[in-house]
Amino acid sequence: VKTKKCCNGILKTHRDIIKSPNDNRSIEGYTLTNGLKLLLISDPSTERAAACLNVYAGFMSSPESLQGLPHLLEHMIFFNSEKFPDSDEFNSFVVKNGGSSNAMTSDTSTSYFLEIPTYLFREAFERFVAHFGRIVFSEKMIRNEINAVESEFRSYLTYDFGRIEAVLKENANPKHPFTIFQIGNLESFKISNKTNRNLKQDLIKFYKKHYSSNIMSVSVISKDPIDKLKEMVIPVLSKIENRNIKAQKWSESPFKPRHLKKKFEIVSVEDKHKLLLLFPRSDMSKHFKSKPWKYITHLLNQKGDGSLSKYLKKKNMCNVIKAEVEIIAGFGFITIELELTEKGIDRVHEVIEAIFQYINMIKDSEIQRKIFDEIKNLMRIDFQYKEKAGSYNEVFNTSRLMQKYPINEIFTAEELVDEFKPQLIKDFLIFMNPENVLAVISSPKFENKTNKRERWYGVNYNVKDLEKEFLVNLTQTKSSNFHFPEPNEFIATNFELKKNEENYEEPKMLKNDGNSRIWFFQDLRFGARGYFALYIKSPFIRIDPLYTVCAEIFNQMIKYDLESMLSKGEEAGLSFESNIINAGIEFKAHGYSDKLNQFVLKVIEAISNFEFDKQSFNNIKRDYFKNLKNLKSKLPVTIAVTYANSILQSYEWIDEEKIAVEEELSFQTFQVVMQNIFSKVFIESFAYGNYESKEVVELADELAEKLKCRFLMLPSHHYSRIVRSYRLPYSSSFVIKARSSTENDNGIIDYFQFGIKNISASVKLQMLARAMSQRVFDVLRSKEQLGYFVGVNLAKDEGYNFGIYFMIESSNSTEYIDQRIEEFIKSFKDELETMKGEVFEDIQKAVLNDDKKTPQNLISFADRFSEEIKEGTYIFNRRDLIVSEAKKITKEDLLQMLDDYMICGAKYRAKLSVRVENAQLKAEPVSASNFCSESKLIKLKKINDFKSRLPLYGSKHRYFPKTLSTKRHLKNN
Ligand SMILES: [Zn+2]
Repeated sequence: VKTKKCCNGILKTHRDIIKSPNDNRSIEGYTLTNGLKLLLISDPSTERAAACLNVYAGFMSSPESLQGLPHLLEHMIFFNSEKFPDSDEFNSFVVKNGGSSNAMTSDTSTSYFLEIPTYLFREAFERFVAHFGRIVFSEKMIRNEINAVESEFRSYLTYDFGRIEAVLKENANPKHPFTIFQIGNLESFKISNKTNRNLKQDLIKFYKKHYSSNIMSVSVISKDPIDKLKEMVIPVLSKIENRNIKAQKWSESPFKPRHLKKKFEIVSVEDKHKLLLLFPRSDMSKHFKSKPWKYITHLLNQKGDGSLSKYLKKKNMCNVIKAEVEIIAGFGFITIELELTEKGIDRVHEVIEAIFQYINMIKDSEIQRKIFDEIKNLMRIDFQYKEKAGSYNEVFNTSRLMQKYPINEIFTAEELVDEFKPQLIKDFLIFMNPENVLAVISSPKFENKTNKRERWYGVNYNVKDLEKEFLVNLTQTKSSNFHFPEPNEFIATNFELKKNEENYEEPKMLKNDGNSRIWFFQDLRFGARGYFALYIKSPFIRIDPLYTVCAEIFNQMIKYDLESMLSKGEEAGLSFESNIINAGIEFKAHGYSDKLNQFVLKVIEAISNFEFDKQSFNNIKRDYFKNLKNLKSKLPVTIAVTYANSILQSYEWIDEEKIAVEEELSFQTFQVVMQNIFSKVFIESFAYGNYESKEVVELADELAEKLKCRFLMLPSHHYSRIVRSYRLPYSSSFVIKARSSTENDNGIIDYFQFGIKNISASVKLQMLARAMSQRVFDVLRSKEQLGYFVGVNLAKDEGYNFGIYFMIESSNSTEYIDQRIEEFIKSFKDELETMKGEVFEDIQKAVLNDDKKTPQNLISFADRFSEEIKEGTYIFNRRDLIVSEAKKITKEDLLQMLDDYMICGAKYRAKLSVRVENAQLKAEPVSASNFCSESKLIKLKKINDFKSRLPLYGSKHRYFPKTLSTKRHLKNN
């Protein structure tokens, strides 16, 4: 029965939304009577409902005098509730039910996001939308969030991309809103020790000026049918006030001719040399149907013969090159970003010249129809056969796109190109000329050689005019080093499905012969797609820091050497990755199954044949150690995690230990080590998706044959022995202290080891962490304001939850933070004791929801199984086991865990506290009372001494005796 309520509020229904022929979801768009644009997606395979509300006001709408205000308002909105004023009741409700919420401010708009189990969507959505009513949050709450924004701002100081952007903003047309400082901080909000400025009126003023239903768009995705969604969503959204605001448009470029032809020399924080060429342009968005820039960036991004990338790499001047288009509300940029080598930074003008030689080569040639057609075809294949985006991405993107394009074109606007307009491409090429360029060079080399300081981030830099002669030369320069690419051989043409085999419930073992093992799971639900993983396991790979470093360098050499092949695959929707894992190397590929095998074979063949080249070894080695030493740009908690891992895992090493091998690591040593690593290997492969068993065995055998050129293939099952965890003694507490860079907050990891390796205890730990994480946010972040970055997480070991750690970044002293954590555990125990039954059940439900969650796409399905093969645990039904265990767990179980493992003085308590401190932050006094402080300090230099006396936990690797018959399937239970 349709209620009358449902159709009130709709001004127009849009049923003509163009979508992929393979998209069988029901989708409808609406314009509501209050002007709000709404998109409803009904998808029976979605387990959780999600919604995103986008309001067309972002950084660029910020008042000049209070820059960053839109971001601060974004932080405040979820506290804005008439029913629960000033509380994060909404977040608690969402988190405790296994959902999530988030918000994000961008240049032109701000997005608010909600995801929740379907049965709770109605209630959650009502609460979600209620935030957009009358402003009721208090000044005290604003003060709190200003601190969160300030802390967020400080975390950005360590990234070069924000700093480069800040310099560009400072040198653009000051009247253009592009120049607005986005994040905001105490200074931009004019808060100092003396003034106690009240921002509430400013926030209300901004809210009333920009938050109006007629410039909002909302997307909802759920498994409920459209009619039900309409009835749930439209009456709620109709309540949002329409202030009839005219949407702002920014089509002008922020750079006038007098701001162009400049070169910026910026002191970087990271030890990296970068070159960025920017071609700003007004009024780009109107060309969205023909996308003339695609032709240009497609060519600039080529990696094969005749490409810019190959040339500059061969000359040893650049490692990475990426051309992109960014369109911001009309105006936009074509950018070319390069990571330069030492040689490249010294000869940066030569690099710029080469880029213009390539651009001039495109300019001088006919615009080629066949290249346009290839781009068009690749985009069409992706549009038609692309995997579904997750719920989050789907609602986030569609709500954003509704602000930019006609509602019926939101799925195609950025995904397809339909018109070949050679004249327009020429037009874009013409504007990519030296008169219209900005060159940014960012490098630590400019330290102490600059004369300007950027206002917000304090970036030191120079700005210079590009010399006239140089510009003239760039207009004319030509080179015969460049030519157009060959057609891509990996583009799929066949999208047929393979013959359906018997039902697969878990991966089947197709072969297990002592040298190798093959696993397979056929799954035709995702169309003609496949996934193939290959594990080369070796007991030597992480035996000491030197071997680990060599393996990691080898991994980077592969990526560097095979770049042109891998990027062709990437273009055709085939991705490949290689990773150093605990017990070996992982190669993983997925994409359209038609050319996937051909691609995998070619890549593996290249890996087995490629010769170690001294030159590229030296380059990669230099960058590898440079990155390791680049502590300055790492977040304090990231540094703390590295320390914690190296103490707890037998196969992890701290950065200092790796850095120490730099000198002994010659090219010759590297070759010997790699030979040793490859002398004893076990090969395990796993195929998933649109395959047949027969072809999987053939493919795996052919790969093993190819790999023999490089690997000695003396079989070894003992790769797992090295992968173990150290056991901290019971009733112990250890502290490690390290230094962080000057601009950062302090970072702390408080780790509690539980050390359990069975499903039941692992699930208990998961529930404990879930119950805690919600309270940690409420207490340590919101109430105590310890910092912006506050959280609690699970530490894993072979797929089991092995421990819990708190992770906090704060300007408070680490002793103080540690004390707050201890206090928190104590108060949490009291809360848990008095917790009502239904609240506990909610937590239980949330954990069940976590684990019952059906993956949305082929990769996440396949990853779940490949994880088991990678870790060597082979518990393919882990999810079912977790769900059935979670149902049995009681509140008393969790209290018992707290009593046994976490509370100060607990019998099995084993705590490790890693504290990364900034010497310049003043420490506050720590009260001595009620403080669990009997910790033992481990000196940094004595870490190995300490580790060498710790016992190891057993391994959970499963052992399969070899079977000689390749036809028999081994039964798993
Ligand atoms: Zn923020």
